[in-house]
Amino acid sequence: MNLTHPFRDADGDKLREECGVFGVIGAKDAANVAAAGLHSLQHRGQEAVGITSYDGSEFYSHRGLGHVAQVFSQKELDALPGMMASGHVRYSTTGGSGLRNVQPLFADLASGGFAIAHNGNISNAMALKRDLVAKGSIFQSTSDTETIIHLVATSRYPTLLDRFIDALRMVEGAYSLICMTPEGMIACRDPLGIRPLVMGRLGDAIVFASETVALDVIGAEFTRAVEPGELVQVDHKGTISSHRPFGTPSPRPCIFEHVYFSRPDSVMDGRSVYGVRKQIGVELAKEAPAPADLVIPVPDSGVPAAIGYAQESGIPFELGIIRSHYVGRTFIQPGEQARHNDVKRKHNANRALVEGKKIILIDDSIVRGTTSLKIVEMMRDAGAAEVHMRIASPPTEHSCFYGVDTPERSKLLAANMDIEAMAAFIKADSLAFVSIDGLYRAVGEAKRNSKCPQFCDACFSGDYPTKLTDFTERQPPKLNAA
Ligand code: SF4
Repeated sequence: MNLTHPFRDADGDKLREECGVFGVIGAKDAANVAAAGLHSLQHRGQEAVGITSYDGSEFYSHRGLGHVAQVFSQKELDALPGMMASGHVRYSTTGGSGLRNVQPLFADLASGGFAIAHNGNISNAMALKRDLVAKGSIFQSTSDTETIIHLVATSRYPTLLDRFIDALRMVEGAYSLICMTPEGMIACRDPLGIRPLVMGRLGDAIVFASETVALDVIGAEFTRAVEPGELVQVDHKGTISSHRPFGTPSPRPCIFEHVYFSRPDSVMDGRSVYGVRKQIGVELAKEAPAPADLVIPVPDSGVPAAIGYAQESGIPFELGIIRSHYVGRTFIQPGEQARHNDVKRKHNANRALVEGKKIILIDDSIVRGTTSLKIVEMMRDAGAAEVHMRIASPPTEHSCFYGVDTPERSKLLAANMDIEAMAAFIKADSLAFVSIDGLYRAVGEAKRNSKCPQFCDACFSGDYPTKLTDFTERQPPKLNAA
C-alpha cells in the first residue's frame, strides 16, 4: 500500500486484491518460471510487475508498469540470469508513486543484497516510518514494504534470519513475503495468515506463490500452504528449514479470497475456491429464494454462485449477460475516466433470453453499488419483467486495511443504507445477501465462532483481527463485533 494514500478509492466498483507474489529457487531459467507464475496471478494485480533474479554473485532486476506480457519479453527475461528469482504483480491507484514502488524492492544491506516482494498491508507502517526517519533512515519509496527493509537494516541481531524476525515482530497487519538474500530464499506469512501463500516443488526447485493456480500453470506439484506465522527458509542446495517465531495464534485467513479474489481453479487452505463459491450459491438459494424464471450470473465472478443457486432452487441457469473479453486488457492508468463506460463496454444483456422474464441476478459483492445499478438498468432495458438481486457475500460495510483496495467507508453502499434502501438505490425488485453464517457454512464451518472467528471477515463484521495503528484515528474499527 502507498503510505501517502491510506484511503484511496478503488477505480472500479469492486474490492481489489492489491498484489500477488511468486518465488522459485533451484530452477534453470528461474526468471522465465517466475514470469509464467506471475502471469497466472495477473488477476491479483494488473498495473505493475517486477522480477528480481540472483545468479550466485549478483542480483538483477526488471520492473515496469503494465501486465506481465507487456513488461517482459524474452529479451528482458534473458537479462535476469540465475537459478533463483522472485516476482510481484501489483495493483495500485498510485498517485505519483510510479516505478519506485514497483516490487520486488531491493536494498544492499551490510549482509549483502536483500530483495522483498510483499502481498498485504502493514497497518502500522506510517508510525514505524516516523520512528525510522527520526533515527536517520532515508526512504526511497512510499511503499509500506520498505519499512521492513529498514527494520532489518537497523536490527542489532547477528544473523539475517534473526534480524528479519526482529523486524517482523514490530509490524502489524497482513503480509505474505518472499525475500531473497545471497544465502537463498525466505518465504513467510503473518501470524494470522491473513493473506495466502503456498509452496510447491518443480523438479528439484522449490516454488512459493500466492495461489495454487501458479503452481499448476508452471507444472509444479503443490506441497503445502506456508502456515500462518511460519518462515520457510530454502538455501541453494535445496535444504528447507521452518521457523515459527510467533507462537501459534489462531489463524484468520481472508474469507474474501474465497468470495472473489482468488482464481476459482485455486485451492485455498484445502478448499476448492470454485466449490466454495458454488456452495455460497446453495446457501443463498436456501436463505433468499425468489420467484423467477431464470438465474443469471454477473460474469465472471458471479458464475459459480449462480450455478449453485440454480441447482438448489431448480430455476434454470442461463447466460443473460454476455461479457466482452477484450475490455481491460490494455493498461489503463488508475484514476482515468474509465469507470463510467466500463460497465457497458464490459457487459451486454442477452435480450432474446431475458425479455419478459423474471430474473435472479447473482453477483459476488456490492461495493459502491454503481455497477449493480447499471446492470439492473441494463436488464430492465432489455425487457426483464422483474429483477431480483442476490449477493454471494454479506454486505461490505467496512474498509479493508490488509492489502485490499477498498473505497473509504463513506462510499460503501452497505455502510450508509439498510438492505431495503440499497434495493431501491440499485432499482432491484428485491435484494438479499448471504448471511455471515451462510458464508461460513459454504467454506465448511458449522457457523462463525463469534468469540474466535475462523477467518478475517472484517469488511463484513468490522471485527478487525489486528491493531490498526495508522488508521484507528481516521476510522475507528468496531472491535469485538459479533
Ligand atoms: S477485511 Fe475483508 S478483504 Fe480485508 S482481509 Fe479481511 S476479509 Fe479480506
